[in-house]
Amino acid sequence: MTALPADFLARLELICPPDLWDSTLASFSMAKQTAFRLNGLGLTGEGVERTESVEKSGKSSKESEQVVSELKALGVTVHPVDWCQPYGIDVYQVCAEHRERLTHSAAASDGRLYIQSLSSMLAPLLLAPKQTDWVLDLAAAPGGKTILLAELMRNEGKISAVEPVKSRFFRLQANLERMGVSNTRCYLKDGRAIGSLKPVSFDRILLDAPCSSESRFRLDQPESLSHWSLAKVAECARKQKRLIKSAWEALKPGGRLVYCTCSFAPEENELIVHWLLRQHPEAHVLPIVAPVERIRPGLTSCQGKALSAELSKTLRVWPDTDWDGFYLALLEKPL
Ligand code: SAM
Repeated sequence: MTALPADFLARLELICPPDLWDSTLASFSMAKQTAFRLNGLGLTGEGVERTESVEKSGKSSKESEQVVSELKALGVTVHPVDWCQPYGIDVYQVCAEHRERLTHSAAASDGRLYIQSLSSMLAPLLLAPKQTDWVLDLAAAPGGKTILLAELMRNEGKISAVEPVKSRFFRLQANLERMGVSNTRCYLKDGRAIGSLKPVSFDRILLDAPCSSESRFRLDQPESLSHWSLAKVAECARKQKRLIKSAWEALKPGGRLVYCTCSFAPEENELIVHWLLRQHPEAHVLPIVAPVERIRPGLTSCQGKALSAELSKTLRVWPDTDWDGFYLALLEKPL
């Protein structure tokens, strides 16, 4: 068992709500629940064709029951996640011991379900694309959030998914194909260039920014934290500023942008949104309503420095057995 870096721990303690400290610390070593979504794009599993009857209307309950009963037959006990139902998505959790069997199930390999953390699902749900929108996913691979966006849009409208790392780009394409996504074009490009290539073009933009992935640290997986350093946090922050600038340029007036990371570092979260608000005082920060107990408002001060009060409308998800640490901000460009 490895230990969390001392600098990381000291910085985390400065920002973690005291009542959530013990559970946050424990979350780096505890066995987590695994969440998955049933594919709402109508894959049947028999030759895995998209069926006409569900093409426009999403999944059929018969197919959902079939997947759940296949998993039960494998000895996987699934628990429905009730708060997801109003969003029209079918989400379940399984305990850590059943993760392996879930991952190797036929339904996972043929695209009838997709394993994705609950925290990751929040960003597409918050962006809430309409079926007529043109959506930009600016840092898309391996595609879990693109797939949910396509599902929320019933495979209508248009999604442009951008990923500059070749191996990850191919994985993105393969995942979209396996899950039956048909409204998305993938671009092997650097997201920092999109704002000038496609200014004021998109109705909705998701920037799930490359980050230092601090919430992915696992004490039983030393490699999960071997690349972390304060220099890495600073390097990520520099890239995130250029990506959010590009996203803002690409957004249409009246359009919405979700910025999110799976890091705790304020430099990669509130300080990025604060920086954008200084460059673009016209940007609106929209309040976020999320059905999550472990959320707290974004920070409005950092290392003794006051930040925009608007940042209290952004949110932090603090980790436990169900949730991964996450930061989310919802911004709107005025008309
Ligand atoms: N949204 C993805 C999902 O839900 O599956 C996860 C995205 S991951 C947090 C960040 C991604 O950004 C990585 O695939 C990384 O390769 C990509 N990335 C790195 N630099 C980038 C850049 N300059 N422009 C766009 N994407 C970049």
